[in-house]
Amino acid sequence: MSEDAKLDLLVFAAHPDDAEIGMGGTIAKAVREGQAVGLYDLTYAEMSSNGDPDTRQREAAEATALLGLAVRGNLELPDRGLRPGTAQSDKLVEAIRRHRPRAVFAPYFIDRHPDHIACSRLTEEAVFNAKLRRHMPELAAWTVDVLYFYFINDVHTPQLVVDITEVQPVKMAALSAYRSQFEPMGEGEDWVPTPLTAGYLDNVAARDRLFGAPHRLAYAEGFIPKGPVKMERL
Ligand SMILES: [Zn+2]
Repeated sequence: MSEDAKLDLLVFAAHPDDAEIGMGGTIAKAVREGQAVGLYDLTYAEMSSNGDPDTRQREAAEATALLGLAVRGNLELPDRGLRPGTAQSDKLVEAIRRHRPRAVFAPYFIDRHPDHIACSRLTEEAVFNAKLRRHMPELAAWTVDVLYFYFINDVHTPQLVVDITEVQPVKMAALSAYRSQFEPMGEGEDWVPTPLTAGYLDNVAARDRLFGAPHRLAYAEGFIPKGPVKMERL
């Protein structure tokens, strides 16, 4: 698919695997409903304690195929060097204007990883600047209907949940593609134990169960929209 492909949903993530953790089920579900979904990772996660960028890209390609993403790109910003400001957010503005999505997704702005917070701020800034016709006038301005925040590491009370029960195995398969991140390796291998290698995927599944429980759903993903969401009917 071309880099100007029209998308329904566009997701930004600091590292390959962030979006899969927070909303892999929602992505898989939207794709199965016929929506075009794109995902841009801001960095190659070159500062990660385990794995290396080449391995991570192969893993991301596997996850991309499982989820059925129409577009998966990398904005090639520095890992642990994400900083709010137009120098970096203009790359996100370009992606938004090229793909003209109805909704954009960003990491929630409270998280233990500073890059996730920075990605959240950069996305917020880009969604705002994308609609300013005098900003980067070489690309037509685009107004996104709604910005949603998804959760990566922490558990916060969502304002809306999406039932992912049917596609939860797809989400877990996409996450399992990131073997370098989530699988402990053997003795003598080049790796260190991290929160991700200590049952992290079980915790992701547990959180999705927790979000689903009040609605009698087996699994759900939670989101917080920025500002009121327009409804056609109640
Ligand atoms: Zn991350």
